[in-house]
Amino acid sequence: MDFEAYFKSELNGLHEEGRYRVFADLERRRGQFPRAIRYAADGTPQEVTVWCSNDYLGMGQHPKVVEAMKEAIDHCGAGAGGTRNISGTNHYHVLLERELADLHGKESALIFTSGYVSNWAALGTLGAKIPGLIVFSDALNHASMIEGIRYAKCEKVIWRHNDIADLEAKLAAADPKAPKLIAFESVYSMDGDIAPIKEICDLADKYGAMTYLDEVHAVGMYGSRGGGIAEREGLMDRLTVIEGTLGKAFGVMGGYIAGSAALCDFIRSFASGFIFTTALPPALAAGAVASIQHLKVSQFERARHQDRVRKVRAMLDANGIPHMANPSHIVPIMVGDAAKCKWISDILLDSFHVYVQPINYPTVPKKTERLRITPTPLHSDADIEHLVEAVHSLWARCALARAVA
Ligand SMILES: *Cc1c(COP(=O)(O)O)cnc(C)c1O
Repeated sequence: MDFEAYFKSELNGLHEEGRYRVFADLERRRGQFPRAIRYAADGTPQEVTVWCSNDYLGMGQHPKVVEAMKEAIDHCGAGAGGTRNISGTNHYHVLLERELADLHGKESALIFTSGYVSNWAALGTLGAKIPGLIVFSDALNHASMIEGIRYAKCEKVIWRHNDIADLEAKLAAADPKAPKLIAFESVYSMDGDIAPIKEICDLADKYGAMTYLDEVHAVGMYGSRGGGIAEREGLMDRLTVIEGTLGKAFGVMGGYIAGSAALCDFIRSFASGFIFTTALPPALAAGAVASIQHLKVSQFERARHQDRVRKVRAMLDANGIPHMANPSHIVPIMVGDAAKCKWISDILLDSFHVYVQPINYPTVPKKTERLRITPTPLHSDADIEHLVEAVHSLWARCALARAVA
């Protein structure tokens, strides 16, 4: 086989469908977020304003976080030096797991090298090890959950997104004696809608199911201590597993689950994706601890974040630019065409120095291509005005429909 030719023809397919991914080459600079330097293909640097970061609260440059990481590097050096089992467990990992268990009101927590790995390893291990487990998975669950369930090779039932009636019908149709787990998210990252967590927990109680909630797009941002939507709604104790990331609102890197001591110990003891990989660098764990501790007490970032989101939505409305209504901090501007989405994004970047990555299939369904705007506490009024004016001017040139203002 001509491997090179095969690779190239597959890539050509992506180009033809307009969904070949081009990464923006950015240099983040401490103290200047949401500003960053972007290097064009010819190497020319240019200052841009980032409008699509998952560093939702700007904690990636918070002085407490940066200082904690520097201190930990000075104290411990660079890497962890091993897997958790073989010399790699650093005291900062232990502190971080305690901090996370406390954040979610659980007995225990377990950290992973990413949120992706935490979902893959935890769901994969539960599904593979619990005899006869049926996983009821929301249709819009993240790729990492889907891959974990697939790896488990257990029975899987997909229920319609956020549809309680469909979930109940599917639970009721399953063998009453089979062990069950319901896997879902709180804030869904592309539409920004929020699951009916209480109703799902009620069904879990009725049908004897475990609940597994991905709070990746909510931790740090919702709840009075940043415990997520389940904290805000007083539901944390009703969830069997709460999963989160340290890489989005907490501004660092890594993932985790929080749950009972026995469940975390079970995953710790059986999950390949936890066992056979080098532990996070101590400095990452130290930075995460500082970030979580700060957001447990500070309301400033959360309040300012919501205020910025309201301001962006109000200005889009005033200009008749259609965005998906939702109860979260994610503002999807709906374009509905892959080529136009990419075109708007390219011109925003090149002519207006506004960076918003186009979101195309397969991340979202075809015809729902969008610009996914993520305001942060660090975007100023002037930044927002500039963004909306830029989108407004391109909207007309692109012959896109306006919302009825
Ligand atoms: C980003 C994301 C993850 C993975 O988290 P990382 O820490 O980035 O690996 C898991 N679940 C959802 C819903 C996500 O959007």
